[in-house]
Amino acid sequence: MMKNHTSFKIGGPADLFIYINNESSLKIIIKELNSIDIPFFILGNGSNLLVSDDGYRGVVLSLAKSEKNIILKNNDTIICSAGISLARACVFAMKNSLSGLEFAWGIPGTCGGALFMNAGAYGNDISNIIKNSKYIDKNGNEKTLNKNEMKLSYRKSFYSEFNDNCIISLEFKLKPSYLDKIKEKMYENIHKRKSKQPLDYPNAGSIFKRPEGYFAGTLIENAGLKEYSIGGAMVSPKHAGFIINTGDATAEDVKKLIDYIKKTVFEKFGVLLECEIKTLGNINL
Ligand SMILES: Cc1cc2nc3c(=O)[nH]c(=O)nc-3n(C[C@H](O)[C@H](O)[C@H](O)COP(=O)(O)OP(=O)(O)OC[C@H]3O[C@@H](n4cnc5c(N)ncnc54)[C@H](O)[C@@H]3O)c2cc1C
Repeated sequence: MMKNHTSFKIGGPADLFIYINNESSLKIIIKELNSIDIPFFILGNGSNLLVSDDGYRGVVLSLAKSEKNIILKNNDTIICSAGISLARACVFAMKNSLSGLEFAWGIPGTCGGALFMNAGAYGNDISNIIKNSKYIDKNGNEKTLNKNEMKLSYRKSFYSEFNDNCIISLEFKLKPSYLDKIKEKMYENIHKRKSKQPLDYPNAGSIFKRPEGYFAGTLIENAGLKEYSIGGAMVSPKHAGFIINTGDATAEDVKKLIDYIKKTVFEKFGVLLECEIKTLGNINL
């Protein structure tokens, strides 16, 4: 069940779920699936994902148990496998007195998922530190992209334009700094998260992108929707930009709540909210 692989704890079964071991098996599997026209989906940590209640008619490829490496190059560059958690990359950078990844401390995704999404926080995002990345295309070929080729913008990348390229490694260019300073920034960021985000309930982070000139959470709160719920899905009382699963939420509950929020915010403020979260299966936001 995909609910066991997403931070929302929602989602039915995939036809097949494969834990990838290493890059060579990944290449073969992707090439074979593509040649027989079987849809596949690359799963990171499932922290930005809403999976439909009837699951996914295709193959989910998970990097959770794949070989993972993280190394330091030239004293200012980190090369890591895509399946490594941002948390591990942040700690590695901190231990090597390299600054640049502090903003990502507390974002619960993998490095691959973060690049796909151009994840960001506190005025920073992956585009500020990424140097290049490697991926396997749908024909099983390994390719490299430099920063410009990755076309990174707000929560978008070359990778998010398609869903059939699997990022396998990334290079972050960081700045030498002081361990204590980096640590302090990381503590500061995690403290902000813990005080503002509903981390005690399953969720998928901010549901909506930030509309230009506004904050989605503030619009939703000002529309009177804090704590509004449909089934088991509720607008978080702590942060209106988050939807929480209060226990038994279905993807359908979340979809209905999102539709209701969009409609209400548009009627009250004329702002059309756009979803940040990705979907899998038979669900359209
Ligand atoms: C409590 C909480 C707080 C959050 N805070 C933030 C925040 O501050 N900023 C922010 O930007 N996001 C935030 N998020 C959302 C989420 O953590 C990020 O978007 C994260 O980068 C997603 O990574 P993931 O590995 O979980 O990706 P997944 O959710 O598994 O996948 C997301 C997309 O990336 C694709 N993908 C994943 N890995 C690969 C790969 N190796 N190759 C190709 N495609 C891949 C998937 O196919 C999918 O389309 C938060 C989420 C939660 C639950």
